[in-house]
Amino acid sequence: MADKDPTATQHFVYIEAMKYAPLENIINGSSVPGSLQTLEVTSPVNGELLSSIPLSTAAEVDVSVDAAASAFPEWAALTLRQRCDIFYRYRQLLQENLDELARVCHEENGKTINESKAEVLKAIELTELACSLPNLVSGEVLEVSPGFDCSIQQSPLGVVSCITPFNFPIMVPHWTIPMALALGNTMIFKPSEQVPLSGDRIASLLTEAGLPDGVFNVVHGDRTVVESICDHPQVQAITFVGSTPVAKAVYARATSSYKRALAMGGAKNHLIVMPDADVSHTAANVAASACGCAGQRCMAAATMVAVGDVNHIVSRVVEESRNLVPGQNLGAVISASAKERIEGYITEAEEQGATVLLDGRGTSVEGCEQGTYVGPTVLDNVTPDMSIARAEVFGPVLSIIRTEDLEKAIELENASPYGNAAVVYTQDGQVARQFADQASAGMIGVNVGVPVPREPFGFGGWNDSRFGVGDITGRGSIQFWTQSKKVTSHWVQ
Ligand code: NAD
Repeated sequence: MADKDPTATQHFVYIEAMKYAPLENIINGSSVPGSLQTLEVTSPVNGELLSSIPLSTAAEVDVSVDAAASAFPEWAALTLRQRCDIFYRYRQLLQENLDELARVCHEENGKTINESKAEVLKAIELTELACSLPNLVSGEVLEVSPGFDCSIQQSPLGVVSCITPFNFPIMVPHWTIPMALALGNTMIFKPSEQVPLSGDRIASLLTEAGLPDGVFNVVHGDRTVVESICDHPQVQAITFVGSTPVAKAVYARATSSYKRALAMGGAKNHLIVMPDADVSHTAANVAASACGCAGQRCMAAATMVAVGDVNHIVSRVVEESRNLVPGQNLGAVISASAKERIEGYITEAEEQGATVLLDGRGTSVEGCEQGTYVGPTVLDNVTPDMSIARAEVFGPVLSIIRTEDLEKAIELENASPYGNAAVVYTQDGQVARQFADQASAGMIGVNVGVPVPREPFGFGGWNDSRFGVGDITGRGSIQFWTQSKKVTSHWVQ
């Protein structure tokens, strides 16, 4: 933490050394200096000091909510088409700024440039769904009795909030921003303090697209900001994405002050590999699922459940994983403490009897020695009681658990408290159907290692991977961001 006193010599030293200017909050269309307390933002790619953010307080949240509340009546009074026009322009700006956004995402998050570009492309897809809202919410009207018409309209809620994690600095904010705003709400956005630069750029592109001041406000900070948003009486609804303990706490706090809330939590996804699975497709797909985005995905393969004799596939998974080279096609993990945590899980599993088939500990990338990299890791003979089999490791680590049959594999999957994704690799349609019916997860893959539904199918897990009702994206999110108004009319002649 740095003291933001402008007279302090050290302050100028920090600014000189920073790649980007220190960030400020964005409230009512203007950059507003936040609290005196600041937090540095460093790049996991090479340890470079990128910027800093204010650690905002409840007072800054109050000012931002006032701005959003003042902007709401005029914004909500526009037609849906008028609001969507702004998102057509915004979609175009995302496309034009794809390379710049991907570079910033790479620098602050550590994922590769290609993975960062994929995030921007997904953000474009999510914005396109919002642009199609006039076709999705055209309303209903029916003459319910002679001369009496009943109609339904979807009204916005007011001031809402979106709180996001570090692992997808561009995509996850777009799960909610375009939809919530196009439907007429105004917003307080709290990006992860570890990756605040992408959020700052999203705000400037929204302004460039023509979004009126106060409709979208950014408040930087940590837990204090989140709790102030949860407690603020004028905030009507919150979406949160992050780890399960925090998702649970945020859901409880937000709903205890009568807000609408949807909180997505962590995950531990099981990939069941049957002996008849296509060898090369399965091996490449499992390795990519486990190690893509350095394993820092709530949809990542954490556990491969090897059913029967699949040694021929296990050896190919190791080969495929070996082709992922840190600093080239495998990005960094978010921080030194994340690297330490991940390596700790590997060491503990080894001590408890797991076989290390591929070891990513102690990885360093030449020229990026201050970066935080973990190489691809494959552990065999993991047992369900080991902590690596139960905890969300969130690194490029695949644990293999051996089972005799599909029923035992499904039992293992069902025993997980999480429920984001579950996958089966097989060439047998009946096996695929049984698995899809019996797996306890919101997103099922059949020969697809990262079964993220494309829009308009909604994204959402089950169990401890989600608190609240419904999916966070897709058609279902329209219900979350609006309330329905029923109008019954009778015109006396
Ligand atoms: P995190 O829970 O540490 O932080 C998420 C957000 O909560 C951040 O904005 C942070 O500032 C805030 N926060 C942190 N601690 C808090 C506290 N005690 N009280 C209130 N707010 C707090 O998560 P992270 O490490 O940034 O992200 C990784 C996690 O997110 C993983 O568990 C991953 O599985 C999960 N995730 C889930 C989904 C999903 O859809 N289920 C999607 C992406 C990420």
